[in-house]
Amino acid sequence: MQVTVIGTGYVGLVTAIGLADAKHDVICVDLNKERMERLSNGIAPITEEGIEEALQQNQSRLTFTTEYPVSDLYLIAVGTPERADGSCDLSAVEAVVKLIHSIQPDAAVVMKSTVPPGTTEKLQTVYPSLRFAMVPEFLREGTAIRDMRNPHRVIIGAHDQQLAETLTDLFKTNAPIVHVDPTTAELTKYAANSFLAVKISFINEIARLADIVGADVEDVAHGIGLDPRIGPAFLKAGAGYGGSCFPKDIAALTTLAQQQGEHLHVIEAADRTNEAQLQYVLDKINPSPGLHVALLGLAFKPGTDDLRDAPALRLAERLTKMGVTVTGYDPAAKTLLDQKESIEEAVAGADLAVIMTEWDEIKQITPELLVKQMKSARLVDGRNCWAYVNEPGNVQYEGIGRPNKT
Ligand code: NAD
Repeated sequence: MQVTVIGTGYVGLVTAIGLADAKHDVICVDLNKERMERLSNGIAPITEEGIEEALQQNQSRLTFTTEYPVSDLYLIAVGTPERADGSCDLSAVEAVVKLIHSIQPDAAVVMKSTVPPGTTEKLQTVYPSLRFAMVPEFLREGTAIRDMRNPHRVIIGAHDQQLAETLTDLFKTNAPIVHVDPTTAELTKYAANSFLAVKISFINEIARLADIVGADVEDVAHGIGLDPRIGPAFLKAGAGYGGSCFPKDIAALTTLAQQQGEHLHVIEAADRTNEAQLQYVLDKINPSPGLHVALLGLAFKPGTDDLRDAPALRLAERLTKMGVTVTGYDPAAKTLLDQKESIEEAVAGADLAVIMTEWDEIKQITPELLVKQMKSARLVDGRNCWAYVNEPGNVQYEGIGRPNKT
């Protein structure tokens, strides 16, 4: 089947590779000319494990262009960022649908972008000749290729049975396929992200209490995670969540609810806790003008170069405003900070280092390196991940919700 994917960011590109894996010919369209030129030369525009190999393997089935082709099936994977009022900005999605309609008025249109509940139904009303479906994306940056090849489930939101069947064939998978209506598919995506955010904020609150009472949140998380009703995932205390999805999706969902006169109290609270968690890390740093802080890890999570809404950047901004000297290090993400090429350089002469992203090489920084390079070997572990937590040597270590080991 010949398929067109519009938008070649994290979702569009990985989806296109997945379809090409399944032997479909895929035309990828993006407004970003430079990105398309790089992709045509086999260069991935994002950091993702296995993406270069996957691109090479599928070179003959993938075409990259800035021109919209005539196609029977379009998948939309353009961005849906947050507006100033917290709502979801659908302008890119709407522009794409309008263009598709002008090119192929009876095409099938599959929404992969995360859009608020009700969006696909509204578009169906405006463009009755197009055939819409909503298939939300659940990949995780850092393991996107693996997630795409082994999804936990595929949610197909469509009224059109024939299209639902076509999509079942298209996304060949052994994973459970859940057939629902488009609005349910849309809400499923937001509910999933909100639930994960709630889990993180929940354990972060427990971590703060652990700091007060002298308990170890890592052991608490292990203890509760063994209960299958709770499960071990997403119970890692730290500096809070960020990234291109959780903050904006939570803002979109809570704003939508508020506009309908409803409050999503638990989800709103998760957001407030997340904001307070960054302040909690800031309090542990105890910033003062002239202090030199090295931020270790800048991307919002390991395995990606994505800096959208990265907690490290938010922390850097606050520290800089307070007159703190900030240096940074990240193996993949590139920022405007005073970013160094190595951990050694980033921590050289620093009063304090803060782990903000749990990259393997950051987890493994030795106490000797910190003692040798830093002015004073103080480490705040914003991800509770340091490998030497039980043998910190002369490093003054502080995690989140962990008793002091030094
Ligand atoms: P992204 O910003 O990485 O990519 C979007 C791409 O769309 C960009 O390359 C941009 O140039 C292109 N684009 C914008 N307008 C266009 C237009 N009119 N025509 C053609 N191309 C256009 O975004 P992303 O992270 O891939 O996210 C895309 C959608 O998927 C969002 O709705 C997001 O919420 C959702 N999503 C993202 C993730 C994730 O982990 N990144 C996971 C699940 C769902």
